[in-house]
Amino acid sequence: MKKILQDLNFEELSSLVLARGEKSFRARQLFEGLMQGKAISEIPISAALKGSLLEEYEDVPVKILETYVSKDGTKKFLFLLADGNIVEGVLMSYKYGNTQCISTQVGCRMGCKFCASTLNGRIRDLTAGEILGQILCVNRAEGGTLKERKVTNVVLMGSGEPFDNYDNVVKFLRLVTAEGGIHISARNISLSTCGLVPEMKRFALENIPLNLTVSLHAVTDEERKRTMPIANRYKIAEILDACSFYFEQTGRRYIFEYSLIAGENCDDQHALALSALLKGRPCHVNLIRLNEVKERELKTTTEKDAYRFLGILEKQGISATLRRSMGSDIGGACGQLRARYLSEGE
Ligand code: SAH
Repeated sequence: MKKILQDLNFEELSSLVLARGEKSFRARQLFEGLMQGKAISEIPISAALKGSLLEEYEDVPVKILETYVSKDGTKKFLFLLADGNIVEGVLMSYKYGNTQCISTQVGCRMGCKFCASTLNGRIRDLTAGEILGQILCVNRAEGGTLKERKVTNVVLMGSGEPFDNYDNVVKFLRLVTAEGGIHISARNISLSTCGLVPEMKRFALENIPLNLTVSLHAVTDEERKRTMPIANRYKIAEILDACSFYFEQTGRRYIFEYSLIAGENCDDQHALALSALLKGRPCHVNLIRLNEVKERELKTTTEKDAYRFLGILEKQGISATLRRSMGSDIGGACGQLRARYLSEGE
């Protein structure tokens, strides 16, 4: 695979263009073209520059291979990477805009028992430009421009553990929020982690004010170990400490994901224990009924029990929402790709 030009920020792209003896306005043209989702070969730059770039860089690092449209308007995309790997993403429309769910790795090595994306382990990390490329090509395919964007919100909830690909993900976040590019505000971005404690603390110091979301899914370490192998490495108490550190550093509240799994984590006792664990914390809980994955044995809870669980949290004074699934008829709801948005704005 050649290198990926979309990995570069504007300053890096400028030096590259100047180093090739071109005028600096060419860098602006090139950057704009790339951020509009264009292939290098489509951008109106000199033939010499184009030729020399194409020797080293992928013309199209990410392209939409297939699009599936759900009855509720949710779209699911398969993206083809330059080395033939494929990742998935989803676009959901809401009143306030469109949220795209993106992937950060091909596969995942976290091994969560309920998740489809970890079934074959991790194949490789995505580069910053490949993560960004998913958004650029969807924005373009949907008829968006840099001024009138069709992707307004982003969730890092596709396949992969963002903090297991820390440097590329942080670079991506700086690219996607940069002025002159697609310029999506960090406040409209949610990053979900299974709770990699050192990276959570490190991220608190990056000064990227996004919505930090932590996948909890259990109330005790023993129970968490049953579904999330990462629980063997970090205790819930350590995760909560990292969340407190995040809040101290950023002033931003955080969100917990809690997928309801029948017979596993959603009795009344669990709801009470979860409330006790989170009481007084500046946090919000997103509940979702497990999306059953056919390769996995775990079963979802009934809607009635999900509302009952929610009711207990609310009674205990915990801010919580039960998310609805979207796009389930197109497999948009399969674990990591299920549709939801993490702010309370829905
Ligand atoms: N690796 C990150 C982000 C990817 S998944 C993380 O673990 O947070 C986004 C969310 O979907 C996580 O909360 C994850 O635990 C959850 N999830 C995965 N498979 C699921 C399924 N089958 N049903 C419901 N939620 C699922």
